[in-house]
Amino acid sequence: MGKIIVWIVVVFVILFVLRLVNAGKARRADDRRARAREEKKATGTMVRCTECGVFLPKIDALPSPQGFRCGDPACAQRHGNAR
Ligand SMILES: [Zn+2]
Repeated sequence: MGKIIVWIVVVFVILFVLRLVNAGKARRADDRRARAREEKKATGTMVRCTECGVFLPKIDALPSPQGFRCGDPACAQRHGNAR
């Protein structure tokens, strides 16, 4: 009888440990997803190039007195104000 109780306790301990491991994995996956969402938000703002009108992420845009410009050298040449 005592042996059966010991085995039941062992099985419950194993299940408990597996559950802890899975919870840790799930939390890590959530963190990764939240971080990806944050990055998307940080780079998600789009601005319009004042020269050629193309939309690009603000992080890639070059600030200019008139607003933002794209980093395309062909655009700057086309509109006569190369950097
Ligand atoms: Zn442009």
